[in-house]
Amino acid sequence: MAGTNREAIAVVGGGLGGLAAACTLAARGYKVTLFERNAWLGGKAAVLREQGFRFDMGPTILTVPSVLRRIFGEAGRTLEDELDLVRLDPEWRCFFEDGSRLDLAENTERMCENLRVFAPGDGIDSRYRSFMADSERLHAISDRYFFWKPIGSIRDMFGLRDIFKFSVLRDILSMRMGKTFSVVIHDFLREPRVSQMAEHFTQYVGSSPLQSPAILCAIAHMQTQEGIWYPIGGTRAVPEALTALAEALGVEVRTETGIRRIVLSGETVTGIETESGEHVDVAAVVSNADTVRTHRELLGGMLAQRFDKRRDYEPACSGVVMYLGLDKAYDHLLHHNFVFSRDPVEEFETIYQRGEPAPDPTCYVCAPGLTEPAVAPEGGEALYVLVHTPHLHAGQDWRSMYPTYRKVILEKLARTGGMKDLEKRIRFEAMLTPADIHRRYSVLNGAIYGLASHGRFGGAFKPSNRSPDATGLYLAGGSAHPGPGMPMALMSGWIAADALDRDGIVAKSAS
Ligand SMILES: Cc1cc2nc3c(=O)[nH]c(=O)nc-3n(C[C@H](O)[C@H](O)[C@H](O)COP(=O)(O)OP(=O)(O)OC[C@H]3O[C@@H](n4cnc5c(N)ncnc54)[C@H](O)[C@@H]3O)c2cc1C
Repeated sequence: MAGTNREAIAVVGGGLGGLAAACTLAARGYKVTLFERNAWLGGKAAVLREQGFRFDMGPTILTVPSVLRRIFGEAGRTLEDELDLVRLDPEWRCFFEDGSRLDLAENTERMCENLRVFAPGDGIDSRYRSFMADSERLHAISDRYFFWKPIGSIRDMFGLRDIFKFSVLRDILSMRMGKTFSVVIHDFLREPRVSQMAEHFTQYVGSSPLQSPAILCAIAHMQTQEGIWYPIGGTRAVPEALTALAEALGVEVRTETGIRRIVLSGETVTGIETESGEHVDVAAVVSNADTVRTHRELLGGMLAQRFDKRRDYEPACSGVVMYLGLDKAYDHLLHHNFVFSRDPVEEFETIYQRGEPAPDPTCYVCAPGLTEPAVAPEGGEALYVLVHTPHLHAGQDWRSMYPTYRKVILEKLARTGGMKDLEKRIRFEAMLTPADIHRRYSVLNGAIYGLASHGRFGGAFKPSNRSPDATGLYLAGGSAHPGPGMPMALMSGWIAADALDRDGIVAKSAS
């Protein structure tokens, strides 16, 4: 038996995954209500406006815009009409401990030219070309079997009959199952600074390259093929555009309305209960809340136990973010910059294995004023610094840890990033610690990127968007398939909506 209201769908959480699901469902004719605990929509894609500065608080790097194109396309809209996107090339500037710098160019041949100057005589250009060819192959495999469909394990990727086809077997072998991301990177890119740069692609999913599967090498091609984009208005413009679309399509948006329970009849969703005790009958729920917390806190009982038995759920990394309003911009920065640690193995082992902040961390630095001067008063910069940390561990109190770690970060930016007078330029300062991230976004142990992609064989798999535990429950967001980051969280919302639509358990709205 489906819920008593055969037409109603609840989306729990208005992050990017929730917004994408709500828009896709509404565009296909369903009656959708979106419930969000916070006062704003967009979840981690939030904005901070203070003293003439504007900061994107969470994501700043937008890749794979074709995912947004598909979601707007559901409603007959074109991406270019909804967002003013600027392509950023070079994509990142890399600062290394030895004082050298390298720009990551989008085009492989231009990048090879950069590498020939950066590390002459090492043959690094032809190695980089081979790495990108491999990354392209892995990207194509991901497109064929992994993206745009609800997947929870390798069994969902390859049908039993397909597994014996030559082309499928060849693709499975190309995935290099059993090898880590780091091993494959070092097979191709032996120059230590170049391998450090490439290993950082796993930071897009908050995971260690030493523990992540080789298939994640596909990220390099995913980024360079479609480029890195900046929406004028900041990445915040993305949830704003999706919110406007949702409202235009008739989605009822209820902010400041947390959900405390998904109501079931047996193992079928029939309703939801808000934190103020209101009961709403629905025929299906798309949960954009963290998948582990959805099961443990919103479902509970046997279904939560079954979910927990299926595998271990390790949170991805957390982070410290500094929002620094500067009176004077730095002209040696690009829009996106990585100020790399002195030793990547020390860095990754400390964060991901020992569960402690890295003694000499990599700092990601975003200087958006170069692309959109309006983010700061004239001549200034709304500088954003993100340092990955372990997810929250018992006994770690970031109120007392932050002042010491702030110094470590500022010293690193001065020494390796060439920002020696940074403190003197600061006119406004705010920060976000793992404890703040945990509280603001209702995530698992302060994780920024949902669940870690650790495990040489199964690391890429997240809980499927179609729940195998409860009929009428669908999962969207960074901790569901296909994983975290703006494009993947958006895609997860589309997949959850599409699976719900295909299942045909909810009646379309008559109006
Ligand atoms: C500091 C930082 C930097 C990042 N940088 C990048 C980047 O540069 N590029 C990139 O691609 N990605 C980046 N990411 C990751 C990216 O932001 C996320 O993967 C993505 O935004 C997650 O979207 P989501 O759909 O999982 O929703 P979330 O943003 O997690 O939102 C979920 C929403 O659900 C709500 N919710 C939870 N439980 C309930 C409940 N019970 N009832 C009602 N509402 C509930 C929450 O309040 C929240 O609004 C970054 C993230 C952070 C925090």
